[in-house]
Amino acid sequence: MLRIAVTGAAGRMGKTLIQAVGNHPETELTVALERPDSSLIGADAGELAGIGRNNLAVCGDIQAVIDDFDVLIDFTVPAASVANAEACAAGGKKLVLGTTGFTDQQKAGVLACAGQSALCMASNFSTGVNLCFKLADMAARVLGDDVDIEISEAHHRHKIDAPSGTALSLGEVVAKALGRDLKEVAVYGREGQTGARDGQTIGFATVRAGDIVGDHTVMFAAEGERVEITHKASSRMSFARGAVRAAVWLADKSPGLYDMQDVLGLK
Ligand code: NAD
Repeated sequence: MLRIAVTGAAGRMGKTLIQAVGNHPETELTVALERPDSSLIGADAGELAGIGRNNLAVCGDIQAVIDDFDVLIDFTVPAASVANAEACAAGGKKLVLGTTGFTDQQKAGVLACAGQSALCMASNFSTGVNLCFKLADMAARVLGDDVDIEISEAHHRHKIDAPSGTALSLGEVVAKALGRDLKEVAVYGREGQTGARDGQTIGFATVRAGDIVGDHTVMFAAEGERVEITHKASSRMSFARGAVRAAVWLADKSPGLYDMQDVLGLK
């Protein structure tokens, strides 16, 4: 059995990940981590995740349990994920990283760790979204500069970053397919006298409301027709299942940076 650690164990994704690790025939949960100052340190991880007591106490110090797992699955906050990536690299542990909202500097810190240990990082671990990345790449290559490209996303009211990491990844996929640099062509929201649309731009629109798990659409609009590629997540289990699949896939991989497209064989 592959020994899995889940950090952010009390979070929305953490709880779902604990369930998904338990559902996979080749994985077992051996470590559950939370913020060192969390009131849930010492709580039973199984009870926390709603799957019944599993006699695994939530821990607040990754160094104390570094020998107790093979792969860490981390869906927390950027600062914690940078520290966890460093701990995994130093301890020779593999890492599945789903946190979004990194600054460029934080991302560089995480990527540097891939030189020492295998790291699978994705803004979205759902199989369907990763298929949409592939479809968006194909659509951008076929439709080319004839279309205006707009990306819209909707998430629940608690989400703390915008646009979503998945929306940005979709933007990067289409920008790369068209030979554009997303940093130069992205437009994040519009207001007032914007002037006419520049055909090279890629627009983003964000909705935050209620309990929406995650909706994404990439629109390719030309004169007379448009193509829309849409994904709607109805449960966090789609991300959690993908992350556990990535952990199992990562188990025999050499140090390096991988993503969900590698895991699914879509490259
Ligand atoms: P959440 O706020 O419900 O959970 C985050 C958890 O991390 C909290 O329980 C918090 O206490 C914990 N945490 C914070 N600092 C910590 C530390 N130092 N050590 C251990 N735990 C710590 O958030 P969420 O909705 O579960 O999302 C978490 C992250 O995952 C976000 O960045 C979100 O965008 C991302 N996400 C990614 C995917 C994907 O497929 N890649 C899917 C869903 C969410």
